[in-house]
Amino acid sequence: LPSFNLFAEIVFPVPLKQVFTYGVSPALEGSIQPGMRCSVSFGRRQTVGLVTGLSRVAPNVPNLKSINSLMDIQPCLTPDLLKLGQWMADYYYCSVGEALFAMMPSGYRKNPKAFLGLKAEAQREAVESLLAQAGALRGVKWDNLKAGTVPVTARIKPLMEALKKSGLLELKLGEPGEMKSREKQTHETKQGPALHPQQQAALSAIEGALKEGGFKTFLLQGVTGSGKTEIYLRAIALVLEAGKQAIVLIPEIALTPQTVERFTSRFGDRVAVLHSRLGAGERVRQWESMATGDASVVVGARSALFAPAKNLGLIVVDEEHESSYKQDESPRYNARDAAIKRAQLVGGIAVLGSATPSLESLHNAKAGKYGLLLMPDRVNQKPLPKMRLVDLKEEWKTRGADRPILSLPLEEAIRETLAKGEQTLLFLNRRGFSTVALCLQCGEQLQCPSCSVPVTFHKSGGTKNEQTLLCHYCNWQGPLPEKCPSCKGGPIRLVGLGTERIEDEIAKKFPEARVARMDLDTTRRMGSHESILKKIMKKEVDILIGTQMVAKGHDFPGVTLVGVVGADTGLALPDFRSSERVFQLLVQVAGRAGRADKEGIIYLQTFNPEHPSIKAASVYDFQAFGEQELALRKMLFYPPFSRLGLLVYRSKVEKNASQAAEQTARFLRAQKGSGVEIFGPAPAAIAKLRGQYRFQILMKSEKPGPIRQVLALLDSKIETPKGVLRVVDLDPQSLL
Ligand SMILES: [Zn+2]
Ligand SMILES: [Zn+2]
Repeated sequence: LPSFNLFAEIVFPVPLKQVFTYGVSPALEGSIQPGMRCSVSFGRRQTVGLVTGLSRVAPNVPNLKSINSLMDIQPCLTPDLLKLGQWMADYYYCSVGEALFAMMPSGYRKNPKAFLGLKAEAQREAVESLLAQAGALRGVKWDNLKAGTVPVTARIKPLMEALKKSGLLELKLGEPGEMKSREKQTHETKQGPALHPQQQAALSAIEGALKEGGFKTFLLQGVTGSGKTEIYLRAIALVLEAGKQAIVLIPEIALTPQTVERFTSRFGDRVAVLHSRLGAGERVRQWESMATGDASVVVGARSALFAPAKNLGLIVVDEEHESSYKQDESPRYNARDAAIKRAQLVGGIAVLGSATPSLESLHNAKAGKYGLLLMPDRVNQKPLPKMRLVDLKEEWKTRGADRPILSLPLEEAIRETLAKGEQTLLFLNRRGFSTVALCLQCGEQLQCPSCSVPVTFHKSGGTKNEQTLLCHYCNWQGPLPEKCPSCKGGPIRLVGLGTERIEDEIAKKFPEARVARMDLDTTRRMGSHESILKKIMKKEVDILIGTQMVAKGHDFPGVTLVGVVGADTGLALPDFRSSERVFQLLVQVAGRAGRADKEGIIYLQTFNPEHPSIKAASVYDFQAFGEQELALRKMLFYPPFSRLGLLVYRSKVEKNASQAAEQTARFLRAQKGSGVEIFGPAPAAIAKLRGQYRFQILMKSEKPGPIRQVLALLDSKIETPKGVLRVVDLDPQSLL
């Protein structure tokens, strides 16, 4: 048996909370470091592990295995990321391995295939002469080598040796692809526009904190058009001047070429971009450029938080209230909260920006935990566009049975806007044609066969672009039956509005208007999103109809009229954040109007003109909304006044899920004095999803600690039965 002097703690991308110890052979002692991946045998497989620590103390483990090989020359995770992973595991109740592997590009998680790569400076002539010498290597061509598609096999070894000797070789693990040499860096930062006083004040506060050094979080609350992005850009410039790096998080939906442009036009090729549309190889390259220092700024969606910046000074979280910052699979972290933690670990600055901050952030700012930076005015000095509430109850009363989709005032406003040659945006956060197919005889709603949700009728949403019934949760598709399948005879009526239906209505009412629709269905194809945007910019579209996709991240300078077709959408959802979400979305969509020199107006069609969230949104009164909502949350002991933990038990067999949930709830309730309130179990609001029944237990506590403690106790005593899947979600963003 080999004996070792050095021992490595290793984790794997699995839910096991255990940390494993492997021996480090003397040959690897000089090169191994925490944060490196390695190849080890785990169970019966060769797999990828991550070194989290090293020790000279021999563990008391029989048959200690050793590390086979190291996969990294440099650690791929920085020391602060290793600590952040520990924190995530602890806070979100997942394994350290899950947390750490979630930080890396997905290509890093596989057992690697290595590919031969050529250094950027490799000359064709030199390489081809090497190829000519290695006679056994017929078939390997310069082009393949340059493209990085030649896998390392035994056959290739002689060529590898030859290339290595000549200094032209680079070994690439994972995805094949060309080594792009990044162009020479342009170190100058372009000048931005002059700041107005509110911006100047906000920037000075951030600058002061940067000079002072150390960790600090700011909440930058600025109305749409107040120039928040300019503050991000200036703060980044300051950080770069100090020789540090910055991370900018933007919700995926808002991460458009237009958004990225704002950063690249200021900082040139010092900007790396990370988003889900990148190929795996490109993702790795962008990611690594933050480690090598080739890039100093990374702009990206949620996971860009984990870019391996070695010298991080600033993290910006734009639209910090967005629920998409929460990952909906393990590790279920919230990137905004993890960003604050990372800033703390590196002693840097976190800037959270929003026009409508989350109540959690508002609460923290009020309590003095965050510095509050307010920018209540638009840069163009124009007032925010007026919102007019249209009471649909009244409309329906006076216009009788035809239940208009567009109220008379909105219809009139569209007509006027068309006449002026300006653009209209119609917003409804529901795609499809009809959101409900209802039997007129027995009252049944047609439901998805695997989910307990009504299916949506699409006129052109099917995979072949034909009409279909579609489940928005599992993508089930089926034909619209002529007769009700439940009572075998009732006629089916399509009710409930979707964006397709509005498109239909506009075509009838304004046949001369040029219309575009932007939702998940029209933007699925690569590039279609951009091509719609281009048409709008070129004024080839008079009326744009869309879901939340149009509300976020876009500037539509030509839009002067916004019509919110159904302002109440989402208000009735059984979730304590539903009013907050509606408020945020309404203010956000209103912000699309009148962004250039012309004034804009917004029509909000609603059945609830007296609803406090809608009333507050209609006058942009975040203050009033925040106060009334915080008071309500306090009374009901909901976040930010409490912490929530959600346990969901899922099974194909209803009884198994409900029994497992029952057993857990009984156990949790019996833990007197735990400081955790238990609610449920109850069927989830979506009681069945993708063929699985779902039962949930809600845990409430003043602080997060007691929830984790009671969960650990649960796991030490009760095992989740076979065939049942348990999901633990701390700080859940959705209770549905
Ligand atoms: Zn029926
Ligand atoms: Zn479904």
